[in-house]
Formats: sequence, structure tokens, C-alpha cells
Amino acid sequence: MLIKVTQTLKGLKLFKLVVLLLTLPLPLIAQVNRNTPESIDVKRSRVSTASGRAVVVTANPLASDAALRTLEEGGSAMDAVITAQTVLAVVEPQSSGLGGGAFLLYWDQAGKSLYAFDGRETASAQVEENIWTTSNGTAVPWLPATRSLSAIGVPGTTALLWEGHRQFGRLPWKANFKKSIHLAQEGFIPSPRFLKSIALAKKIGVDHSPIFKSIYLPNGSFPSPNKPFRNKKLASTLKRIAKGGVNEFYRGEIANELIADLQFHQDSKKTIQTITSADLARYVVQRPRPLCRKYRSWQICSFPPPSGGGVAVLQALGIYELLSNRTWSEEAIGFWHLLAESLRFADADRSHWIGDPIDLPVPLEGLLEDDYLAKRANDIKIDKATFYPLPGEPKGSELLDFASQPRTAGGGTTHLVIVDLEGNVASYTGSVETVFGSRHVSGGMILNNQLTDFSFLSQVSGKPIANRVGSNKRPMSSMSPVIAFHEEHPVLALGSPGGWLIPHYITNALIRTLDLKLSPEEVVSRKLLSVQPNYTVLEKVGKWSSSNANIYEGLKSLGHKIKYNSFSSGLAIIYWNKGMWQGAADPRREGKAVSLQ
Ligand code: GLU
Repeated sequence: MLIKVTQTLKGLKLFKLVVLLLTLPLPLIAQVNRNTPESIDVKRSRVSTASGRAVVVTANPLASDAALRTLEEGGSAMDAVITAQTVLAVVEPQSSGLGGGAFLLYWDQAGKSLYAFDGRETASAQVEENIWTTSNGTAVPWLPATRSLSAIGVPGTTALLWEGHRQFGRLPWKANFKKSIHLAQEGFIPSPRFLKSIALAKKIGVDHSPIFKSIYLPNGSFPSPNKPFRNKKLASTLKRIAKGGVNEFYRGEIANELIADLQFHQDSKKTIQTITSADLARYVVQRPRPLCRKYRSWQICSFPPPSGGGVAVLQALGIYELLSNRTWSEEAIGFWHLLAESLRFADADRSHWIGDPIDLPVPLEGLLEDDYLAKRANDIKIDKATFYPLPGEPKGSELLDFASQPRTAGGGTTHLVIVDLEGNVASYTGSVETVFGSRHVSGGMILNNQLTDFSFLSQVSGKPIANRVGSNKRPMSSMSPVIAFHEEHPVLALGSPGGWLIPHYITNALIRTLDLKLSPEEVVSRKLLSVQPNYTVLEKVGKWSSSNANIYEGLKSLGHKIKYNSFSSGLAIIYWNKGMWQGAADPRREGKAVSLQ
């Protein structure tokens, strides 16, 4: 429908299109639910690509250009991540920012080592397990929960950027804030997606947040699509962080203001559970070991728990490798069938076994062992779809008696990849969870609703759910930044937003890059496949290499129930090929790839 609308409007100027989109009945613009985390854009016909010795791909042109400038000024990939994330906080606040959290994988070329930085939001030390259950034990509805003060976890982004800078920054910390401060103060022309996201936020509820309305819906109307949009309060917060660093955010004025803002929204009996100054002061970035496993001749590294996405990508690849043929093209129905089945089996495990390891052990090694994956692959039928596969029983799970988490996901997220002139590589996913997070705002920053990524039920039939709410816990995430290696050299970095579907998008992209030898441009352009426990989802728009009908009929003959849907992936990919880095941004969003030759 939206495609038809845009086609008939081809000749109209961009701002007229935006105005029109904003006046369309909202269901035509987008929907938001736990499986479709952000708004869906019509695919652009041209993919943004760039190649060279250093490449940046982010979800927004202003952020990509600013990060590239940082590299030109002698900054490292880490400096460029800070520039990009702080600019995104201003120009793409619907997806990530300083009031949110992030995961970073960083390859240090000089030390030839890979590092993981976990800046995931954290629940209060005082939180009770039942914040998402009603008095009769049922789960509270998701949408109202996203705007509850209880959904706001201690933000981790600033601490992650600080820690990364301490180890890998080359420019002064402050220098990496110049561009974001300028954009917040002097303004920028809002992008169509930014405006559409405000419409979406309005649809899912902003009345609880007068500050959100005063910034993003001034006098009740949408910001003009052709006038600079400013957020002066955010400019002054950025200035303070640029000057005072991590302490300013977690122990200084910003922390005090954040807690005061949360208190202001408390009910008079103070019954809502929120984070406290002590929680902020105590926040630390976790430094887990990256999670790696071989896929054919590559070593694929992603993020360990509390990400369930990294485990899912590695499991799906491991199972797919055992059953597939590397010479298959997209014409082979086996490619689609086994991609779907591998993802469905991996999903069953992540909704059962993954939680924050500070609470109960995660049988991580067992989940990725060769024998275990061979057993899982054995349960997959080459000629028949399996619905509702059960989780497996990996080594290390003998003493754990969990229930599976009912399917959940949501999202306002961004992914960026950067390689600098020295060959340091960053793969970074940042999030505020739902579109514009909780829509609560403090210091001009969007505050996340990441604690709705916990399971809403803490137990089923007396068995605990691994990802239940808990003191100081980080909710399970689907975010799965990846860096892949060949003969110990980094050759590929990628990631995506997209809620629960993130590992699905990433597995699609990895197999297409590594087995099908497609370029980043082709990979981000191809149709994606995703799964639910009882059906397979094919993408509505985009290019198929084989006819739509063949794949549909082929999968149907194997018993797949098929639905067509649009996807809000935002793949960002860089790939080392023919002596240089090639980058591409997903045409489903507004990303841009830029490079230094
Ligand atoms: N909050 C989600 C997670 O951490 C990410 C949401 C999204 O990608 O849009 O899994």
C-alpha cells in the first residue's frame, strides 16, 4: 500500500511526502509490537555503499559523516564510535542514545585481540521479581509497560563509551562530542524516519511525558520537515559529559537530575519501582570474553549473555553447516528450509537457557559444543518443517530446571560498523528498546525501557524463567554485533537492530556473504527470511534471485506455513574483499556508508 502511495507521489518534493506520510492514518505508516520493534520504511532503490582503507556505516548520514571526520582527524575506530553514537543520540534519538545501552565488539589491530564491552541497562538492586505481573499472576500488557518508570534500567552507553575510550581512544574524549553538541544546539534537518518515529511514539503514547511532547511535538504539532530541529537541553547535557566524563553522568549533576525527574513522575505513595542514585553510582561496564565459534573456514565472534542473539547466531550457523551444502545458491530450496529450521531450533534454546549469568549459570559451552549441535541438527528433518521445537539439553544444564520464556521482543535500536586506517574494527549495537524508549526524557535524553526485555512472567508451573527480573540483572538481549575472522584476520563486521529478529537477519547476512559470496551491497538488498515457532516469514518487498513463487511453493511442499511481512532490519556491513574494505547500509532504513581511500 505504502509502495503504491510513494509511486504515485514520485514527482512530489520530499517534504511534501513527509507531510503526507504524517497525515496518513497511522496503521498505514507502521505498527509497533514486540515482533516489529520500529517503524518499517519502504526500501530505497539505491543502496549506500563505500569502499576504501577505512569505512564507516551507521544508520544516519550525519553520524556517518561525523565519524569519518573523526577518523580523518586522526581518531581511532573507538573515537569514531563515540562521535557516531553521540550524533545518533541527537539525530536518531528514537533508536539509541545516552539514556540507553549498548554492546561493542572491538578488534585491536596492534594487540591482535578482540574485546567485548557490555553496556547493557541494569535493573535496580532493589527491584522485585514481579514488576511485570499483575496481582493475579498474569503478565501486564507490554505497551503500557514500555512507558512505566519501572521499565527504565540504569543506562550503560556513557560508561561503555568512556571505558572504550580509556583503552582505545586516541583523540581527547571531549573532541568526540564536538559534532553532536553542534547539531543539538544549532539544529539539523529532521529525516523522514525521525518524523515518522515521532508519529509512531505519539500513537503508542506520549501523554505521560510532557517533556517529550515539548521537545518532539512542540505546541502539539510535528517538527517541520524543512527547518532545523534543536534540542538545547541535550546540547547542554552533552557538554557536561564532554567536560565531566563518566562521573558527571553517574555521580554528578546529570545523575541528580535524572533521579529528580524520575521522582517527579512517582505516584504520591512512591509505589513504582525505579532506579536510585546508588544504582547509578554502582554501574559498571562488563568485560566478558567474546563468544566465538567456527563456521566452515571462518571464526565468527559475537556477544555472550546477557545477549541471547550471539548464541543464536552461532548455533544457527553450526546447525546449518552440518546440514547444508556450501555450493547452494538461493535457487536451492534447501537453503531456505535449513535456514528456517536452524533459526527455529536456535530460538527454542535462547528463550529457555539465556539469562544474565550473574544470576544463574548459562550452559553456554554446552549450547555451542559440536556434539550438542550435531544432536540438534539430527532432530531437523531435511524434507519437513518442524514447528515448536523444544529446547535441547546441553551439557551444564543438568541442575537447571527452567521454563521457557514466552516469546518477547521490542526495539528502538541502531547498529554501526567502523574500520579505521590502522585496521581496528568496531561492531556496535546501541538501543533505547522501543521507538523513543520509554518516551520519558531527562536532560534532553530519551530514557530507555530496556527492562521490558525481561520475561514478564518470572516462572511457569513453579519453574523459574532464566530471563526473569532480578536485582542488578541485565535483561536478555537479541543484539548480536559480529566480527568474523579468516586465518586470524578480521574480514567481516556486521550487525542489525530488529528486536527478537536480529539474529535472524544476521544469520541471513552471514551465510550470504560467506557461502554465497555476495557483496555487502547485494547482501543488504536481498530478501530476508525469519521464523516464528510455528511459521516461516518471507519478506514482502525486495529482490528475489529466484521467483517468489518457486520459493513459496518449495517451502510449502516441505510443510512450512508461510507468512509475508515487512522487516525493519538495519544491517550495517563491512567486508574485506580484494584488498580493501567494502561497506553497505541496509536500504530499509536511512543509513549511509562512507570511506577514506
Ligand atoms: N531491546 C532489544 C534487545 O536488546 C533490541 C531492540 C531492537 O533491536 O530494536 O534485544
